[in-house]
Amino acid sequence: MTNERALVTGGAGFLGSHLCDALLAQGYSVVAVDNLLTGRVSNLEHLRKEPRFELRQLDICEPFDCGAVNYVFHFACPASPRDYMAHGIATLKVGSLGTFHALELARKYGAKYLISSTSECYGDPLEHPQKETYWGHVNPIGPRSVYDEAKRFSEATTVAYHRYHKVDTRILRIFNTYGPRMQLNDGRVIPNFMKQALRGEELTVYGDGSQTRSFCYVSDEIEGIMRLAESSEHEPVNIGNPTEFTILECAQRVLAVTGSKSKIRYEPLPQDDPKQRCPDIAKAKKLLNWEPKIDLETGLRMSLDYFRQASLAETPSRT
Ligand code: UDP
Repeated sequence: MTNERALVTGGAGFLGSHLCDALLAQGYSVVAVDNLLTGRVSNLEHLRKEPRFELRQLDICEPFDCGAVNYVFHFACPASPRDYMAHGIATLKVGSLGTFHALELARKYGAKYLISSTSECYGDPLEHPQKETYWGHVNPIGPRSVYDEAKRFSEATTVAYHRYHKVDTRILRIFNTYGPRMQLNDGRVIPNFMKQALRGEELTVYGDGSQTRSFCYVSDEIEGIMRLAESSEHEPVNIGNPTEFTILECAQRVLAVTGSKSKIRYEPLPQDDPKQRCPDIAKAKKLLNWEPKIDLETGLRMSLDYFRQASLAETPSRT
């Protein structure tokens, strides 16, 4: 337990809000900042009366200061391909200007710092599974580049602040994560399939569904993040679930868990969609004594109530 104060940028987002919960449970006071571009106040509704928590609505692309903190967790960024492609310039700005501002705060207050980076740093990987030492295969001008290059730039900036200013930094590479509080309409595969299955609509599989992803349940991801935060590792660490599924297998798991009779509809594969993705987590296992515990089917069952409520709350719109 601690009585320190932490800043979470992007604190109203899916992962940011779960991180706020975990930090509060550890004894931290938490100030969350968010411009609510893709984050939602409803993710933090349960903390409204928590005296150790506050949410400030502000844009970290402008310089900001929320007072002395012991830890900066930089999680602000649109994260789903639909969102970061819709908000491409904002994504580049939060990864560059926002990262500088978050690092400057850590430097000013002598705070520890952790940046949420991504498996997208590996692009459409030619090395499989992906180890932290792999430099990646990224299209710098493709539709995903606004996100991929923003995150690669964030990593470079973080390493530079460590090297030149001795900021105590950590770099987390997150692989596909899912669970309660994901936006139903963010276009990602699990919310899409869950929503479609629960509404009896066809599941939209892009391409032939043979591309792979490795899905980590949110509580496993947060546990890994907290362990990395406590470590003194400055180089990137993959935190994800190494069990790999084709997208077609993922659709079948969703159908099994929801008991839905929905059919599958094939749609074109988006440009530069990575063909395979799977974390090598040997480093996290050794360094943090961490590995995920919740398999895909269990995690989908644990998310079912949330997706059911969310599907009922929203009128059918885009998929
Ligand atoms: N996908 C799909 N149907 C959907 C949404 C996504 O087949 O309705 C595929 C997508 O083409 C990709 C994978 O599922 O191959 C994961 O997509 P997501 O948007 O969740 O995130 P990504 O891992 O690509 O960042």
